[in-house]
Amino acid sequence: LGPTVCVGEILVEIVATTVGNGFMEAQSLIGPFASGAPAIFISQCGRLGGSAAMIGAVGADDFGRVNLERLKGDGVDISAISVDPDYPTGSAFVRYREDGSRDFVYNIATSAAARFGWSEDVSNLIGRAGHLHVMGSALSVPSACGVIDKAVDIVKARGGTLSVDPNIRKELKLDEATERRFARLVAKADLLLPSGEELERAAGVEGEANAIRRLFEIGVKEIVLKRGADGATYYSREGESIDAPAFVVREVDPTGAGDCFGGAYLTCRRLGMSPTDALTYAAAAGARNVTVVGPMEGAGTREQLDAFIAATERRS
Ligand code: ATP
Repeated sequence: LGPTVCVGEILVEIVATTVGNGFMEAQSLIGPFASGAPAIFISQCGRLGGSAAMIGAVGADDFGRVNLERLKGDGVDISAISVDPDYPTGSAFVRYREDGSRDFVYNIATSAAARFGWSEDVSNLIGRAGHLHVMGSALSVPSACGVIDKAVDIVKARGGTLSVDPNIRKELKLDEATERRFARLVAKADLLLPSGEELERAAGVEGEANAIRRLFEIGVKEIVLKRGADGATYYSREGESIDAPAFVVREVDPTGAGDCFGGAYLTCRRLGMSPTDALTYAAAAGARNVTVVGPMEGAGTREQLDAFIAATERRS
């Protein structure tokens, strides 16, 4: 089994320390934290001891080094992350509102995160990958799309597997070409990890049951639907469903829960665990991550998640 490979944006996140509306007034911020949904996902895979590697790019700056050191420290193979000499590492500024929603200021389009392409290192990695994980957010980056299209074909042709987290904010309108690319990707996914209404969007039909039926018809084998503090549900093509209640925690920073959940679920499945056991680790990884400030600061090792599971109540 080759490594789990994730393709996409690597960023730093800077978080406001106060809750409020946007960034118009001066305020205190903390960071940089290593970030980017695909990077959070692969960090959780590496921390859990799965064989993990990342494709993406950072700038030749401290923000880039924060990410490279973090991923390497988590056991992630960083050989296919390029260091762009001309563009800075991508960044995201985040501030939470009272109602839990978030304001973002992104710098991705003019950063290294939007400028990586196919390279010899990427080719070497994809040539031995056992699994590819793609996030919908990467599809709005044209250079990432080229790498993803090629990587999906190579990995699937070799008998490898694909997971997709739609990770598309509902307000985000995709252009027609991206919408088609997203639909093609979903149809090739072995595992789909949508949250909330992403399920219906991925299926292109309304109603949860209809969406699940449709996704299995087009070839998806396993779906895990994430519902935040309401837990998650697993659906198999064979008609089985398993509820995974959430752990009871005090949420401090929700960013990254879904990515940690997905990274833990996939890694546990690839390590041979049953869906039920993998869901327990995934729910623990998601819950543990929301108790800590920073998008991937709460990603857990096997020992940390075991301790968390033993010490934390689950909703019924
Ligand atoms: P994001 O895009 O912010 O990373 P997401 O929408 O993809 O998140 P969520 O459904 O928010 O994913 O979270 C994934 C999983 O993490 C949930 O199914 C749940 O198991 C766990 N989780 C998330 N938030 C909480 C919380 N407040 N309390 C307990 N568990 C949580």
